Amino acid sequence: MVILKYLWDSVINFIFPQQCCICKSYLCMDGAVCANCLAKLDFISNPKCECCGLPFEFKWKNAKQKLLCPNCIKKPYKFDKAISSVKYNEFSKKIILPLKHGDKTQYAKFIANIMTMSGRDIATDSDFIIPVPIHLTRMLKRKYNQASLIANHLSKVYKKPVLYSTLIRSKSTPSQGHLSERERKQNVSGVFSVKHSERIKGKNILLIDDVFTTGATVNECAKILKKAGANKVFVLTFARAIK
Ligand SMILES: [Zn+2]
Ligand SMILES: [Zn+2]
Repeated sequence: MVILKYLWDSVINFIFPQQCCICKSYLCMDGAVCANCLAKLDFISNPKCECCGLPFEFKWKNAKQKLLCPNCIKKPYKFDKAISSVKYNEFSKKIILPLKHGDKTQYAKFIANIMTMSGRDIATDSDFIIPVPIHLTRMLKRKYNQASLIANHLSKVYKKPVLYSTLIRSKSTPSQGHLSERERKQNVSGVFSVKHSERIKGKNILLIDDVFTTGATVNECAKILKKAGANKVFVLTFARAIK
């Protein structure tokens, strides 16, 4: 069966060759970007904030010192740890935007594969995966939630169940696109709710989204999940905006 699927995929790929979403060259394998463009993705490495995952220059005074960025020292987030795989830039944007707004749902698997390694530790410590939800009106318009598509793939790899109907976006809000940090916080305040809170009581949650911009959305989700009884909330996103 595996060989048949491989042959079938090869035939489909020959008739309808896929293009790299960054440089538009034709791909010989199933995926979203070519090997050249994969190397252009700016992977986030250490040192980075142990809470929000922000990479920054830092010199350890001692190895036991917890590394926190100035933002997390000043105003800690409600989630326990956030990790992003790559920086949000002109390259990663060309994978995210077609998935988000261009019906390129096949990119979710590629994105999830990249996220798999980055999130292994927090996934091991999690009981459930929860995608950041979108409101029903946006769901009807877009037909899918990109965070759910990514969560589906991660669930198979990490072997952790996804809870789709526990965290709900109960209010429709304008897109966060051009809002300031303060406006983003206000925009998501009170828009999420939890159903069947007994399912998450005392459990650790791995929250999934495509991009971490200011962290306002995932922070609000973590706040609501913890209020409903969740023990720890971890955040895993594909890209991270660096100011
Ligand atoms: Zn390319
Ligand atoms: Zn931080």
